[in-house]
Amino acid sequence: MITPRDDVALLDSYHSPQVDVAVRLNTNESPDSPPEEWTNAIAEALGSIEWNRYPDRAATELRTKIGALHGVGPEQIFVANGSNEVLQTAMLTFGGPGRTAAVWEPTYALHSHISRITGTAVVEGERAVDFSTDLAEVRRVIDLAKPQVSFLCSPNNPTGVVDDEATVRAVLDMVIAVDGLLIVDEAYGQFAPWSADVLIAEDVPLVVSRTFSKTWSMAASRLGYLVGPAWIIAQLEKVVLPYHLDAFKQAAGTLALAHVEEMNERVSRLVEERGRLVARLSELDVDVWPSGANFVLFRPRSVDGSDVWQRLVDRSVLVRNCSSWPRLEGCLRVTIGTPGEDDSFLSALEEALQ
Ligand SMILES: *Cc1c(COP(=O)(O)O)cnc(C)c1O
Repeated sequence: MITPRDDVALLDSYHSPQVDVAVRLNTNESPDSPPEEWTNAIAEALGSIEWNRYPDRAATELRTKIGALHGVGPEQIFVANGSNEVLQTAMLTFGGPGRTAAVWEPTYALHSHISRITGTAVVEGERAVDFSTDLAEVRRVIDLAKPQVSFLCSPNNPTGVVDDEATVRAVLDMVIAVDGLLIVDEAYGQFAPWSADVLIAEDVPLVVSRTFSKTWSMAASRLGYLVGPAWIIAQLEKVVLPYHLDAFKQAAGTLALAHVEEMNERVSRLVEERGRLVARLSELDVDVWPSGANFVLFRPRSVDGSDVWQRLVDRSVLVRNCSSWPRLEGCLRVTIGTPGEDDSFLSALEEALQ
């Protein structure tokens, strides 16, 4: 009987449990629906799609509009079905058998998972005790493994830690020294005080990935992108399947970009709400990590993390249970929701901690 590739047979599949509860704060989605004008515009656009024709393969309008957000042209934007597919395409292009990717844990599980799926060896380094990027450790791993691809995640999922510009520049120098590529995953970039997109240049091996899933209230549409040098985008375009971005998704993304201001206001509201949530958490019997994203990592001090998670589910509140993940013993991650959802979470947590 046919068997999968040996390395695939050994893999665990990635999944985030979806439990039916009233308050869902486990996957870092936006708590708000997209703007109503967008919903109306997309309904109208649906009628003018030429369904019998393949979509614009180059997605030029969408890439042009996304590029404008970052001050670059469409030739510096690669778009795909969620930033996970963006990362997969990057690994199919720059990783693969005989090549290595470096990650510093704890970080987004998909970086190592996608690397392995593409046949890329993974070398894992450690973050510092406070989960910041430890430059000495980054140097040790890069000098040792000479990875083709190095991953940073800023703000980092699931810890919320932001790498500052000096840190990203220092890692970039190390990556350049081994002729590697640095991928900075900024799925939560809009919630952070700065973006590594300012470091992008044609002769710099750096790409920054973003997604419509979090800030843009469009997780259901599966749309993500990467900003980088035009020569890297051209290589990714060779690897991705033809017509991978359907016409509806292109329209959805293009129409969303007419609402940048409203999205920025939503980000400000969530950042403010994050401040309120962190302040309230700090009064409870939990350790809290400062976050530059739309979620907060915390660890109950006197009750087991998994027990607290279950007690929250019993009260119809779902957060992410990270308590069995390496280096995150006892930790839970909560997404910033609406003030009402966050209040439900906080009162459920107070009871759960007793
Ligand atoms: C949510 C997330 C993504 C991916 O999202 P898509 O929905 O595939 O765009 C990528 N990176 C990080 C760090 C994330 O948390």
